[in-house]
Amino acid sequence: MLRSTDPYLRERLHDLEDLGHRLMRQLLGQDHAPSREQLPDNAIVVARAMGPAALLDYDRKRLRGLILEEGTSNSHVAIVARALGIPAVGEVANAAGAADPGDAVIVDGTSGSIYYRPSAEIEQAYAERVRFRARRQAQYHALRDKATVSRDGQPVELMINAGLVIDLPHIDDTNCAGIGLFRTELQFMVSPQLPRSSEQLQLYRTVLDAAGDKPVTFRTLDIGGDKALPYMETITEENPALGWRAIRLGLDRPGLLRGQIRALLRAGGGRSIKLMFPMVSEVAEFDQAKQFVERELTYLRQHGHSLPERIAIGTMIEVPALLYQLDELLTRVDFVSVGSNDLFQFLFAVDRGNAKVADRFDILSAPALRALRDIAVKTKAVGKTASLCGELASIPIGALALLALGYRSLSLSATAHGPVKAMILDLDIAKVEAVMKPLLDAPAGSLSIRDHLRAFAEQEGLSL
Ligand code: PEP
Ligand code: MG
Repeated sequence: MLRSTDPYLRERLHDLEDLGHRLMRQLLGQDHAPSREQLPDNAIVVARAMGPAALLDYDRKRLRGLILEEGTSNSHVAIVARALGIPAVGEVANAAGAADPGDAVIVDGTSGSIYYRPSAEIEQAYAERVRFRARRQAQYHALRDKATVSRDGQPVELMINAGLVIDLPHIDDTNCAGIGLFRTELQFMVSPQLPRSSEQLQLYRTVLDAAGDKPVTFRTLDIGGDKALPYMETITEENPALGWRAIRLGLDRPGLLRGQIRALLRAGGGRSIKLMFPMVSEVAEFDQAKQFVERELTYLRQHGHSLPERIAIGTMIEVPALLYQLDELLTRVDFVSVGSNDLFQFLFAVDRGNAKVADRFDILSAPALRALRDIAVKTKAVGKTASLCGELASIPIGALALLALGYRSLSLSATAHGPVKAMILDLDIAKVEAVMKPLLDAPAGSLSIRDHLRAFAEQEGLSL
């Protein structure tokens, strides 16, 4: 049925898979759906491990914190928690054993601290911290209508990452420049069954409507790895991060990818749209995916649909092999967006979700930053844009490093928009570029550049 060219028959297969999946859950007693209704107000969930889809099963209005025994700050569950504004702390040994149901717990996602049954003094201190944060938020909000231009007059495009309808109010709250990464897989992950074409189309239209004149970059499905779909056949792979995922799956299962591209192009009818592909490892994959877009455009034209007025097609750079194909790649793409989460995972051979190794290498070290610099320099040389949408852009010191490397377009989590914008308004970019250049070129003694950036920020009075 999967190989059938008839989309109707293919959809029926997913109905069957969904049914089978639900039946299995019932038989195994694993139905966790009731959590939505049972969750008390101000709940803190403590779990050994959790995937991003499971987090989305909880009622977001009631969920106030998340503690995980496994899970690092770059894992997808952490990214989703950040997007939802839920403080989360991972890598907590024996978390599930340390708290009893009903215990008061403070989860400090900023410092990564947890206080079980806190004393009155600690509660007091945190109440004060919450008030302080609220004042900071008000200060960021006051910057909302200011253009994002550095102290030395360089404009920076600050966009946000999104993936769900609940993210859309952030466009207006932050007054960002647009959505630099729309993770389309999130709709698929939260849905109990494969979203129909009509549902995909509706979501993409809603997103474009909410963004108005601001650009939106939709990334085609990035599933596989730690982003499993509950209704899809599970394939056991020894190394899922290196396995059958993202564009690889899309190219091998063209029905799914082409259906999504069609929905995206239809949603973009009469407007501008930007599309990009995840986990591209070689230029030929980009060519093939781009051909899908062209075929869908022909189909839509033949069937009298209105077409997008402008389409920009780009790719994520998150597989190191692309660093050595930049010349060929850059002649083909309209733009690139660096996925530093995966790029660093593969560059350093460090599983981004494995707490034992995740902090082993400093991402603000020469090898990582040289890779990012090469992308920025080569892209600029051909007059195209390199943006960065990994979590590195969401940390002020990371954003500072990126500006020093030549990036002028960043896409970050909505909660990071205020702090990063405030930093840019106070920053003399030319100065930090001058600090960065000799550090990158210096023979590797101490590889970390973090301390130099910290010292620079302190000297310049930047708040990181
Ligand atoms: C990345 O890899 O940096 C990225 C933005 O994609 P994701 O985090 O969704 O894998
Ligand atoms: Mg990625």
